Parts: sequence; structure tokens; C-alpha cells
Amino acid sequence: MSVKSVWPSSLWLVIGAFLLPACAPLGPSGASQHSWPTHGNQYYNYWDAKYLGSDSADQLSYRLIDSQTFEDIRRSYNGALDDPNAIRSLVDSSRLIAFDSTRIQADLQWIKDSSAITGREYQVYLFIDRTTGLISSVHGEPGSNHDSHPYIESDRNHGMVSPIPADSPRNTNRILIGQVHGHPARPDGVTLHRMSPDDSLTAVFLQAPIYAIDAMDGPPGTPGSIHRANPDPGGDFKGQDHYLGKTWGVSGFQADGVFNIGLNALRIWGISRQPNFEALRQIDQFYMASQPRRHPDPGLDR
Ligand SMILES: [Zn+2]
Repeated sequence: MSVKSVWPSSLWLVIGAFLLPACAPLGPSGASQHSWPTHGNQYYNYWDAKYLGSDSADQLSYRLIDSQTFEDIRRSYNGALDDPNAIRSLVDSSRLIAFDSTRIQADLQWIKDSSAITGREYQVYLFIDRTTGLISSVHGEPGSNHDSHPYIESDRNHGMVSPIPADSPRNTNRILIGQVHGHPARPDGVTLHRMSPDDSLTAVFLQAPIYAIDAMDGPPGTPGSIHRANPDPGGDFKGQDHYLGKTWGVSGFQADGVFNIGLNALRIWGISRQPNFEALRQIDQFYMASQPRRHPDPGLDR
């Protein structure tokens, strides 16, 4: 039996089987959990938001810096990023990364409620704006009952992709660091409380975490559990992680289990590889050929 006949609706998996004849592992790899630093200024590249390194400052913060500037400072202090003058130079040359947590958390609940009401996979993109250092979210085009396709613009020169919002102008200074979508109830079956094989492939191709929110049960306004498909950078992550937190329901930041998804996405994107641009291009061609709906941007050059 072919892969296609097992999952007739599974575009990503069909493409994935086609593009990855060696079969990328989708199941849990059993690899160890990555441990994150607990102090020091953590520096991320202005151009692609990849992690560059950290100093030994007492506090914990996240900062954007031009990678060449970072290397120049590191070199002039012989690699000693615990030198007080090196730390001062790095801080002076970088910008603090901030989190638009209210917008992001509201969007997570919007996904949960919209997906539950309509039965479609509503989606948002998580991004960092390199010019402001702000991590926030924008709405994407809603998908079908069992699929949501990320619309992105590739920037191969900088090794990143920008999200194409459904309801606001594009901005190529936005670096995609993750995608979130709802998993509504299925009229023809059971929606599992986990990520789909398609989600895992999307994470591997984008090299960014893909999150899903349970929207198959509970009325609008109730919290939904959050799961994640991982890009498996260097085997530090297993394929999926479940029940990372919840949307905030009607309780706002007082809710139990509110999850800092923006920081989580930055950390994972920061140590993953570049997106697989060739795979993304082929998927997009396949997807557009299979959909009667027009692309939001017909003139897109990819
Ligand atoms: Zn999914």
C-alpha cells in the first residue's frame, strides 16, 4: 500500500515521502533534553536570529547583534566573553529582544476558538522583527479541517524565511521562528492529542518548531493544550513534545499553564539549521498545483 493511499489528505507526508527517500525519522528519537542557560546575555544574529553565544553576565537576557560585530568583539578579547569590557561592548552593540506576550497569548486563544467554531485549522506565525527585536505573532491563512499550509517568503541569502500574513502587509525584516495551528474535531474520525506526521515534516523543512493547540473539545473561551513538533537540531530534541502548556482561556495571564511560546520558539530556532529551501519550493509548487484557491501573493518569487 502506498503512503498516499494511507493518508490521502496528507500533502506534506506525500511530498515528504517523495523528497526524503531515506525516510527521515518522525517518531521519538529518545534523545536527551536540551538544557538552556540560566544566566548571561544570550546573543542572537540580527540577520537570521540564530544563536551566536553568551557572556557571563549575572542576569539572563536575550539580545540581537550583527554576527560580524559579535565576532569582532569576541576576537578582540581573545574569545573571553567573561571580560567586563567585552560584556559592555557586546551590550552596547546589541538590542534587547522583547516579547509581545499579550498579542501572542491572545492569538493562541484565537486559534483555539476559531478552529473549534469553524472546524478549520486556524494558524499564526511566530516571528522576530530584526529591526525592533520584538517577538510577536501574525495571522496566517486558515487551513482545512486537517491541514494548514504555512505561507512563507524565502530569503536564501540570509538563511531564513518571512511569514506572509493573511490580514496585514508583508515585512521581510520578520524572521519566522515558529508556526502554531489548531487541531479541530474531525467529522470523519478522532483528532489525537498530539502532532501529525505532516507537522513533523513541516518542522524539519522549516527547521522551526511547529505547535498545535487542541481545539477538538471544550467550548470557546476554554483553555486548549499545546503540543510541539521539533526540527530535531542535532538530535537534542525528540520528535514531538506534548502538553507543554495551555492557552489562557478567559483568565488572561492569571491562567494556569501559560506557556512562553515566543521564547521557546526563539531558543529552538536559534540552534536549528537553515530551512530546507529546495524542499519548501517543491512543496509550494505541489501545493499550488493541487489547490484551486489562488496564492495570496501570485507574484511571489521563490
Ligand atoms: Zn497539525
